[in-house]
Amino acid sequence: MAALPTIAVVGGGLGGLATAVALARAGFEVDVFERAAALGEVGAGINISPQATKALSAIGLGDALATVGTTVTGQIQRSMYTGELLVETALGVAGARFGAPYYVFHRADLLGALAGALGTARLHLEHRCTGLDEGPSGLTVEFANGARHRADVVVGADGIHSQVRRYLQGTDEPTFTGQMVWRALLDGTTYPRDVLGPHGFCGWIGKGSHIMSYILRGGSIINLTTQSDADEWVEEGWSTPGEPHDMRSYFPGAAPALQSLLDGVTACSKWGLFGRAPSHEWGRGRIQLIGDAAHPMLRNAGQGAAQAFEDAYVLARWLQAHPDDPEAGLAGFRHVRIPERTPSSASPLPTASSCTRATGRSGRRRSRHVRRRETPRSAWAGSMATSPRSSGPCAASTRCRSTRPSDL
Ligand SMILES: Cc1cc2nc3c(=O)[nH]c(=O)nc-3n(C[C@H](O)[C@H](O)[C@H](O)COP(=O)(O)OP(=O)(O)OC[C@H]3O[C@@H](n4cnc5c(N)ncnc54)[C@H](O)[C@@H]3O)c2cc1C
Repeated sequence: MAALPTIAVVGGGLGGLATAVALARAGFEVDVFERAAALGEVGAGINISPQATKALSAIGLGDALATVGTTVTGQIQRSMYTGELLVETALGVAGARFGAPYYVFHRADLLGALAGALGTARLHLEHRCTGLDEGPSGLTVEFANGARHRADVVVGADGIHSQVRRYLQGTDEPTFTGQMVWRALLDGTTYPRDVLGPHGFCGWIGKGSHIMSYILRGGSIINLTTQSDADEWVEEGWSTPGEPHDMRSYFPGAAPALQSLLDGVTACSKWGLFGRAPSHEWGRGRIQLIGDAAHPMLRNAGQGAAQAFEDAYVLARWLQAHPDDPEAGLAGFRHVRIPERTPSSASPLPTASSCTRATGRSGRRRSRHVRRRETPRSAWAGSMATSPRSSGPCAASTRCRSTRPSDL
């Protein structure tokens, strides 16, 4: 058999690193190119739902996740103004019900776990992709520092403002949704243990805004992430610094427990929420987009990174199933991953403030809808070490059109 195709992953975020680990464990020679001088994702928490935990476990990262993650037993939601309990959701049953826990992570810990599994040899920092060159002998990725890298396959995992997507589709800029996020980390040791309720995870629901608060690293840190309507355009970037008093001014009349959290903010950052209309153009030939580059989702779906992790596993399995024909492997990936009809969760623009409407009848209707779309227990059965033809790369998602490479 000829040598396996070489793969360049553009973007060393959560999706890019997970994809690189999955590809490396499937036997591919893979290089990751990240524009930043150091791996980022500092300063906030992230929830990972069971189906994504399963995808990462199938890649072989289960133990690494268990080391750095906090298992969530449940969530409560309270009124932002009165503190009244609105909803309690049990999540401790997730492990038994779906075969994998619901985790929260400090982003830096999760990124560190992925980077640790990849190793540094194939990670190229300070490589900002500026373009691609498609020649008869393959693809060449071009970088701002003058470097060029030849590969048989290019995976664009470079986020919502993807340069690889721009190469494929021309100018196609994301749209500001009219919503923004504040993010802050608090010293959890200075608060009573029950400040976030019995599960250490509390959402505060207000008019046109909400705040998610949950513990990280065993309670030593409390993560605050807000979402509010914003009249003015807000720059996108994890580290755009903000002023704590500005952040507090977005949430007047907060209930006492919430106010105590807001009063504890000494440093914060802000982030504009951008979206794109859903597209079926996720790649062509030997160029493939994944994660936010392909299908950005707003944070209130809580699924952007989770979907990128599903992409990582499924992509590696399809390429593994077509070692001599990566174009066929990528076509298979797109065939199973691109929704046949556009699900509401893939459409970020109309759902920007849906969290604030999640209670009452519409919330109950949404819960029923979510239950119908639950992931089957058998999902993610095939590890990277097993034959893709026997276990199939994508038994997970009810929206997949096909479950096995051999179904094509
Ligand atoms: C406030 C907030 C909270 C969220 N919470 C959750 C949650 O709880 N659960 C969840 O599943 N999702 C959540 N999300 C969504 C999630 O963060 C994203 O969907 C996820 O990070 C996407 O991963 P990615 O690797 O595709 O893109 P990114 O994380 O954006 O990574 C892209 C990487 O590519 C690099 N890059 C960009 N351009 C170039 C270039 N030209 N050349 C080289 N490198 C480049 C960037 O520096 C970055 O490292 C949240 C999002 C926000 C904003």
